[in-house]
Amino acid sequence: MTIRQLPKTLVNRIAAGEVVERPASAVKELVENSIDAGANQVDVLVRDGGRTQVIITDNGCGMSREELSLAVERHATSKLPNDDLINISSLGFRGEALASISAVSRLKLTSRRSDDDEAWTLDVEGGKLGTTLPAAHPPGTRLEIKDLFFATPARLKFLKTPRTELGHVTEAIKRLAMAHPDIGFKLNDGDRDLLRLAPAQGDFLDSCLERLGAIMGRDFANNAISINAEREGIVLTGYAGLPTLNRGNAQMQFLFVNGRPVRDKLFYGALRGAYRDFLASDRYPMVALFLDVPAEKLDVNVHPAKTEVRFSDAALVRGLIVGAVKHGLAEAGHRASTTVANSALAAVQSGSLPLGRGNAGYSSAGGSGSVPYGLADRAQSFFAPNSGFDAPLVAPDVGEGFGVSVFNDEDQENYPLGVARAQLHETYIVAQTGDGIVIVDQHAAHERLVHERIKKSLETRGVKRQGLLIPEVVELGTTSAELLNKRCDELLELGLAIEKFGPGAVVVREVPALLGNCDIQGLVRDLADGLAESDETLALKDRLGDITAKMACHGSVRAGRRLNATEMNALLREMEATPHSGQCSHGRPTYVELKLIDIEKLFGRR
Ligand code: ADP
Ligand code: MG
Repeated sequence: MTIRQLPKTLVNRIAAGEVVERPASAVKELVENSIDAGANQVDVLVRDGGRTQVIITDNGCGMSREELSLAVERHATSKLPNDDLINISSLGFRGEALASISAVSRLKLTSRRSDDDEAWTLDVEGGKLGTTLPAAHPPGTRLEIKDLFFATPARLKFLKTPRTELGHVTEAIKRLAMAHPDIGFKLNDGDRDLLRLAPAQGDFLDSCLERLGAIMGRDFANNAISINAEREGIVLTGYAGLPTLNRGNAQMQFLFVNGRPVRDKLFYGALRGAYRDFLASDRYPMVALFLDVPAEKLDVNVHPAKTEVRFSDAALVRGLIVGAVKHGLAEAGHRASTTVANSALAAVQSGSLPLGRGNAGYSSAGGSGSVPYGLADRAQSFFAPNSGFDAPLVAPDVGEGFGVSVFNDEDQENYPLGVARAQLHETYIVAQTGDGIVIVDQHAAHERLVHERIKKSLETRGVKRQGLLIPEVVELGTTSAELLNKRCDELLELGLAIEKFGPGAVVVREVPALLGNCDIQGLVRDLADGLAESDETLALKDRLGDITAKMACHGSVRAGRRLNATEMNALLREMEATPHSGQCSHGRPTYVELKLIDIEKLFGRR
């Protein structure tokens, strides 16, 4: 065995393993270079997901003839002029990207400095440099990568489909574009422009919002609270979406540190903390935050791909994010603040009893004004098997007089959840019981019932489906459509029959019968969002809570739908007959019972 110094090309190929994991990482490095070069327009062309060809053109400072061959040398950089690894103000600094990329591909660099008359071009193939030759090119730089990873066949095997790789490329460019709104970006796949982002004008917060709107959607721009906070020299700016604007995964949560997109557990944790009181744990707010951290409080030299950073005081940064976002949400006014209603309810909640057994966390103990036997006890007698299990959860509208009870007073005494008297704000069912009133959140209740029904159907004879008269096409984008397609057998078991429909869409032919008329578009989108972040190996059945919550959310009894008396009473009766119906899938109560005694207390009569 002889120890030897490895040849340069081999060293670069080894390094490439860390720097260029896939086409998207090469694109990220090159776009970063264009940004560092001061370009205000960066155009990217990607063919076959970047496998056969990537071309990046910018109008930045360009390189001289001598610099071209230096640029592809390992550890050659123009970005550490004073050998200062502390005060890094550029995105690049390691001098590795071009060396790595050129070691594993066929690279053509063409560049011209703005005050030079001539452009120069250089070919590098698998790390072997050609001769630098004069060329025709406007000021700026053009980098063409052909046959990425041809020199490292092992890595080539790990590439996913062109579509998937293109998705990663798009993500990488979007992230950089969000942090640099003053730069125009274009992405083309050889057929069409996938991204066309014009340079945004104005100060950072304004131009940033414009750019974020273009990337995260108009809804975000219209429903985001601006964040602006500072602690010990660390400045936090950006936008946080209202809690009601949420997604099924964390893909719309972005953090940038000194202009660099980073993925950091600290950030996701801080957001969970900030939104905890406003959002269910399986919903994710849409957020884009920008941290400006003084160099001495930050280490960006953590990973070759530069997607991780280390804060010298992580707790400080976390506190800053949580505090600023919470403050912003409070500033949003009544949309987030429910403190008054909460304290009123707290006074009466202690006397209410949930249905079903084992409702931990929603205690019936220590109730004020409790009746001799609890609602929970009485409810047990109603756990009779339900007929018509596959019918929609409520009876069809039969046009009965609104709020007219079809039950006599005797019924009222007997039903634990009482007889429906009214529906308020098309969301709450108010029912009268023998000794009080019950307010049901129809949506939360429905969610739980759907969950329990699907669970039961799966255990027995499968979920019954209802064919759609007109199949519905849902446009999703290729990534999401593919995800759903992969799971179509499992979805069929859960009552949803979907098929592929062109490259970026699915067609829905059947839905679970028990959903009634549902918002198919919303449901399918929501499911796709959920799949995008889920563990692929986990069966959908094992994530039934997530799925049924999504189904119920788009089913016919969601909040905001007017119910007639028959429908409302049918819902109450089904709740009485269904275990666990006293809480929704997130552990919140589905109804509140106020005893007359409690109501009298509210009015100071006791
Ligand atoms: P780093 O970005 O860490 O310096 P790279 O390997 O990415 O390392 O690039 C090496 C050098 O090549 C850069 O420091 C820069 O001087 C030059 N360079 C690369 N891309 C461009 C570009 N688009 N415009 C101008 N100069 C560039
Ligand atoms: Mg670089």
